[in-house]
Amino acid sequence: MQSKVLNVLQERQSIQMLSVQPDTKPKGCAGCNRKIKDRYLLKALDKYWHEDCLKCACCDCRLGEVGSTLYTKANLILCRRDYLRLFGVTGNCAACSKLIPAFEMVMRAKENVYHLDCFACQLCNQRFCVGDKFFLKNNMILCQTDYEEGLMKEGYAPQVR
Ligand SMILES: [Zn+2]
Ligand SMILES: [Zn+2]
Ligand SMILES: [Zn+2]
Ligand SMILES: [Zn+2]
Repeated sequence: MQSKVLNVLQERQSIQMLSVQPDTKPKGCAGCNRKIKDRYLLKALDKYWHEDCLKCACCDCRLGEVGSTLYTKANLILCRRDYLRLFGVTGNCAACSKLIPAFEMVMRAKENVYHLDCFACQLCNQRFCVGDKFFLKNNMILCQTDYEEGLMKEGYAPQVR
């Protein structure tokens, strides 16, 4: 089975706290759309926020205080606790079969998920990038070269697509 690397998910985002320079134009807050005139603002998801406006969609806690990370999924901004409560773990890595915590970067291929570190050709260890071709055979990840070599050795007829 031939597949393409679909996407790398990154659901954990960092929050930066910045001090506002008095002589710069105030930035708009992505939460309430008003200008930020405080001494400090938060930067997250490439947007600026009042310290009060960057809140967990579930429990309303101020994310700038909880830690310096937030979690996003389906347009929700969540604290770590709610994120884990709602989404738990992503699943088991199809290569090493260990659990993948929900906030870890994963590779998805069809219905399988992989640790980023586990997603490589299982014969030559070649890594793949988004858009690269790879092949799944008996649940093994193979690069094109190894897949085609395997076909020749074993004399399999190429799959009809
Ligand atoms: Zn605001
Ligand atoms: Zn929360
Ligand atoms: Zn793994
Ligand atoms: Zn290979």
